[in-house]
Amino acid sequence: MFPSRFRYEAPRSLDEAISVLGDGGDYAKVLAGGQSLVPMMKLRFASPELIVDINNLPGLDYHRADPDGSLHVGALCRHATLEFSGLLKSTQPTMAAAAPLVADPLVRNRGTLVGSLCHADPQGDWASVLLSLGGSVIAQGPRGRRSIPLAEFVTGPFQNVLEHDEIAVEAVVPPAAGARAGGYLKLERRVGDFATVGVAVSIETSGADVVRAGIALTGVGGSTIGADAAAAALTGAPLSADSIAEAAELAAAAAQPRTDHRGTAEYKRHLVRVFVTRLLGGTTTAARATERAA
Ligand SMILES: Cc1cc2nc3c(=O)[nH]c(=O)nc-3n(C[C@H](O)[C@H](O)[C@H](O)COP(=O)(O)OP(=O)(O)OC[C@H]3O[C@@H](n4cnc5c(N)ncnc54)[C@H](O)[C@@H]3O)c2cc1C
Repeated sequence: MFPSRFRYEAPRSLDEAISVLGDGGDYAKVLAGGQSLVPMMKLRFASPELIVDINNLPGLDYHRADPDGSLHVGALCRHATLEFSGLLKSTQPTMAAAAPLVADPLVRNRGTLVGSLCHADPQGDWASVLLSLGGSVIAQGPRGRRSIPLAEFVTGPFQNVLEHDEIAVEAVVPPAAGARAGGYLKLERRVGDFATVGVAVSIETSGADVVRAGIALTGVGGSTIGADAAAAALTGAPLSADSIAEAAELAAAAAQPRTDHRGTAEYKRHLVRVFVTRLLGGTTTAARATERAA
């Protein structure tokens, strides 16, 4: 199918983009990698009257660590850049584990992490990863810049809190409070597919104690789920078999899976339990679990 008719603008500065977006009102959409928006338009799930293509905006394709240890990912940083990032491999284990699991190489070459957060697909991988890390989104609009914690950014399936004239300019991961560890496990029906179940775990330790933990779930609810009680069960003491088992149970309880063509609700909840246990127990370093039989 073809998209419905739309006006196309490709501004060359952020200020211009914000102004054009404001003119378009509720019927304007930002285009970043186009890997979610274009399919939605072709299926006519989305019919924006104005497309504001941000790909000509200078200086948004970065990802960098600041001196305080925070990580900043610009709105035009592609999944593929993150997949091959030495910075992520050395400092962000959860992100490094997830990056190669997002879609397929074609999509990763164009799609962006920030676009994925904005798209707010319950099966999107990056929202869980950033949520587990306590990340946030920086939005810029005519009223200036604001920082929105991921926990508040995604409000439901395919919904975020951006105003119609705001652009998400970067995602930020705060500095670690201790040594960072973690990972991301994802069950797919085939390589490159969306998650049947995905689990992101991030922990920070000082000495033996866990000083911060984050656990977030992909594909097992109407939006990305932060398993906060599970994370709290890990904090303030060294990891132990008991605390891991408790966190796994609490994470499974936080999941809100539905039975569908990918599996039963019970099966998906069980996978959450297994993935949390594996990630925390370090019993596997494999970041991909692929179910080949649909
Ligand atoms: C075949 C296929 C398989 C896929 N598999 C996966 C997968 O396994 N896991 C996964 O997580 N994703 C998957 N995706 C989605 C992919 O990761 C997209 O790249 C991502 O969801 C959106 O990023 P984008 O840059 O392409 O955004 P776009 O498609 O350009 O935009 C998506 C939405 O976000 C808005 N938006 C984008 N950027 C901004 C911004 N800076 N400010 C404000 N609004 C913005 C747009 O207006 C639009 O509503 C898949 C896509 C395809 C086509």
